[in-house]
Amino acid sequence: MKFCRFQPLEFGVDAVGAPAHPEPLFGLLEGSSVRELLGDPLTEWRRAERAWPLDRVRLLAPILPSKIVGVGRNYAEHAAEMSNPLPKEPIIFLKPLSSIIGPEEPIVLTPFSQNVHHEAEIAVVIGKTCSQLADGEPALPYVLGFTCVNDVTARDLQRSDGQWTRAKGFDTFCPMGPVIETEVDLAKSTVAGYVNGERRQFAPVTDLLFSVDFLIHWISRMMTLVPGDVISTGTPSGVGPLHAGDVVEVVVEGVGTLRNPVVAPTSVSPLEASRHLSETAKGR
Ligand code: ZN
Repeated sequence: MKFCRFQPLEFGVDAVGAPAHPEPLFGLLEGSSVRELLGDPLTEWRRAERAWPLDRVRLLAPILPSKIVGVGRNYAEHAAEMSNPLPKEPIIFLKPLSSIIGPEEPIVLTPFSQNVHHEAEIAVVIGKTCSQLADGEPALPYVLGFTCVNDVTARDLQRSDGQWTRAKGFDTFCPMGPVIETEVDLAKSTVAGYVNGERRQFAPVTDLLFSVDFLIHWISRMMTLVPGDVISTGTPSGVGPLHAGDVVEVVVEGVGTLRNPVVAPTSVSPLEASRHLSETAKGR
């Protein structure tokens, strides 16, 4: 199944003539239509009567988590291209929820960085509360499904700051989606990153230094994972700079394609910016 969040594109206008967006809804992507859900994928849900043609909705980030846990240097070739040694344990960090955007929303570059990179990743979405998972207990029953994340990173700030919060935390630096796919064969899945249609990154998910199962066990020893939480598992080699006007895609085999345009800091209208902020704030 492919869970999504969406807004119908049937805009009214408010008192000053600005578009009034309908409330976000959960849905199931079924071919070229989106079936509305009653309830939500993390608790109880059932199919609603109403379905929308895909071209009459705007897909949003498929979930609003309580935290996004990132994993650094989890592919050997990526660690090598950054001149870093292989980690002995996972290197984890958090991305702020205010960095989340959905498919097709613009990644807004920042004047604070001259070297913003794409990082194509497969991400786990947690489905059941998970704490202190015992060795040998399977982790997959705690997983709702998988999605695509672009762990956008200001590479220059990552190096100069010595820790990663600022580099990975700018608004719009966490595109996510387009769906949460509940059935993914990790043994066969692949992660690819494209810029303007050209493939820059590619690896099978089996190349992960620390597997999805290992990461869930290991992270659950430090912090309780709650339904909706996202673990972005790290990026393959081939990361590189993004420029205004680029279109970047994260393609996870068996999940889908997450596509976002890249824009200069000044080219986002205040209306767009306030819409994004109200959308992220609404989920709190
Ligand atoms: Zn990353």
